[in-house]
Amino acid sequence: MKRVKVPPQASGGLMLSYKCSAACRHCMYACSPKWDADWISEADLFACISALRPSIQPSPWGAGSMSLNHGLHFTGGEPFLNYPLLLRAVEIAEELAIPSTFVETNCFWCRDDEVTRERLLTLRGAGLRGILVSVNPFYAEYVPFERTERCIRVSREVFGQNVMVYQIEYYHRFRELGIQGRISLDEYLGRTKSEDLAAHVELFLMGRAARQLGAFYPAHPARAFLDEPCRPAFLRSWHNHYDNYGNLVAGYCGGISLGDWHDLDRLTQEGIDLEEHPVLGFLIAQDMGGLVEFARSLGYQQRERGYVSKCDLCLDLRMDLVSRGEFGELSPKAFYAHLGGTGEPAEPAK
Ligand code: SF4
Ligand code: SF4
Repeated sequence: MKRVKVPPQASGGLMLSYKCSAACRHCMYACSPKWDADWISEADLFACISALRPSIQPSPWGAGSMSLNHGLHFTGGEPFLNYPLLLRAVEIAEELAIPSTFVETNCFWCRDDEVTRERLLTLRGAGLRGILVSVNPFYAEYVPFERTERCIRVSREVFGQNVMVYQIEYYHRFRELGIQGRISLDEYLGRTKSEDLAAHVELFLMGRAARQLGAFYPAHPARAFLDEPCRPAFLRSWHNHYDNYGNLVAGYCGGISLGDWHDLDRLTQEGIDLEEHPVLGFLIAQDMGGLVEFARSLGYQQRERGYVSKCDLCLDLRMDLVSRGEFGELSPKAFYAHLGGTGEPAEPAK
């Protein structure tokens, strides 16, 4: 197989930048306050949303509703770090009649009811349909829980049914625990008397999670993952990401670019040249065993303690390849520099 076509983009997230108020240990895109503030330009906002316009699909409940894997969402990093740009993105999406738009936030900015309500009402007035509020112990290291509660309460006033709390189980658990302010992961685990971070909720061991949360999970040799399919799916039509550097980020696979979304038509009609992009060639057309052998031939040595997931292995291989040569599909390069080490605690943001 020499070429493979990128599926028409039925849904996805437009990343305004990788800059974030937090540096969560589980972040799939390795976002943090340390990234440069390379906000997407207004011209690129228009170009990207225009390119997506023909294929984006509304929620099954209608264009005025939201659902996670339909429509277009605005994300980052933390999109509320640049509220004027977020508002402009919503306005452009509305001008172009994009269905089922929503914004994703960690709620850091919800310091009082008045500002929270005013911003959300302005976004709704500009055409935004809903909001996804992030809640789990990794955000809670950075965002005081009362801001999360405020964001959810005011969002329900403003957006009604179109409020998704991801993950609602943690929201209820934090309320039961009476959490106030921020809480470190160690303290949270101590208070819940739990060592099982992923108990009852979804956690993808990819991106920074693979580097920083590996100690919580059993490791296996690389061979255990060679035949395992990518979960969640790698080459897919839904919930891909379009970043501020022009990368069409495959699914949740931070640091892997399927190409430049400025060329979306060409990518969907002519496809990706897999010979020019060998890492994509292995991931799409072969299997992880091929990528392991390719990296080995360049000097990669398998990690002695093993890997906690297929994505952990994939990331380790890609980090090694990035250090050895130029692979345009391993982009943006800064992703690999912002993953953090293995196991060290994240520093709370001021
Ligand atoms: S998970 Fe979200 S809030 Fe946390 S660092 Fe990543 S983008 Fe920021
Ligand atoms: S193994 Fe690699 S390509 Fe597959 S889902 Fe994980 S990070 Fe993505």
